Amino acid sequence: MKLRKEVKRMKDLENICLSVEHDFDGKYQSVAPEIVQTSSFQFQNFAHYVHVNTDHEFAYTYTRGDNPTLEILEKKIAHLEGAECGRSFASGMGAISGTILSLVKKGDHIIIVNTVYGSSVKLIQQLQKFGVESTKIDVQETKEIFEYIEPETKMIYFESPSSQRFEMLDLEMIANVAKEKNIYTVIDNTWATPLLQNPLKYGIDVVIHSCSKYIGGHSDIVGGIVLCRQEIMKYIDDFAHIF
Ligand SMILES: *Cc1c(COP(=O)(O)O)cnc(C)c1O
Repeated sequence: MKLRKEVKRMKDLENICLSVEHDFDGKYQSVAPEIVQTSSFQFQNFAHYVHVNTDHEFAYTYTRGDNPTLEILEKKIAHLEGAECGRSFASGMGAISGTILSLVKKGDHIIIVNTVYGSSVKLIQQLQKFGVESTKIDVQETKEIFEYIEPETKMIYFESPSSQRFEMLDLEMIANVAKEKNIYTVIDNTWATPLLQNPLKYGIDVVIHSCSKYIGGHSDIVGGIVLCRQEIMKYIDDFAHIF
C-alpha cells in the first residue's frame, strides 16, 4: 500500500516535470519549450512602451525581470514544491542574498542553524556592517534552536539535510514556534530537491534552491530559485529582483 502510494506520488511529480506549461503561441508548437534567449524585448512603438512601463499592460521588457522561459521554470518548481509562486535568480547565492536582504533590516537578528552552505553563512555574518546581527548555532535537537531566540530575531535560516553533515531538523516544530513569534523561516532545500522534501507543507515560509546542483543535474548551469507565498514574494520582488 505504501509502495503504491509512493509510485503514484512519483508519477504525479513526473507529470509536473513533463507537462507543457507554455502556451501554444509559439511559431512551431514545439513540445520542448522554445528558449527565449534575449536580454530585452521589442515594443510595437513608443506609446506601447510607455503603456507597459506605467503598469497599464503587461509585456515582457527585460529578462532579469521577466522572461517566458524562466516563467516556465518558476511555475514548474513552484508546482513541485506546492508554492504559490517562484522567482528565479542568476545563481543560488543570488536567490539567497535576494531573500535575506529583502526580509531583514537594521536592528534585526538572524539565527543560522547547523552546517549551512559556507557562502550563505559569510553573507549573513557580513550583514553586521548594516546593523543586522546573527548567531550561528549547532544543535543536536530542533528544540535547542528556540533557546537562542531574542526579541530582535527576525529569521531562522537553515538547511535540512544540511551541507556536509546531512543533519536533519523538525521542520514543523521550527515553523510552529517561529510563527508564534513572527519570525521568518527560510530553508535552503538544495540537497533534498523538491522531489524528496516540500518544506512549505510543514509551514516553512521560504524555500530556496541552488539550481546549479541537482535541479540542473549536469553541472552545466548556474541558477537559483525562491519559492514562497505571494505575500512574502512581493517584498522579494520589490527589493531584490533587481539582481
Ligand atoms: C551550491 C550551493 C549554493 C549556492 O548556489 P550557487 O548556484 O553556486 O550560487 C547554496 N546552497 C547550497 C546547499 C549549495 O550546495
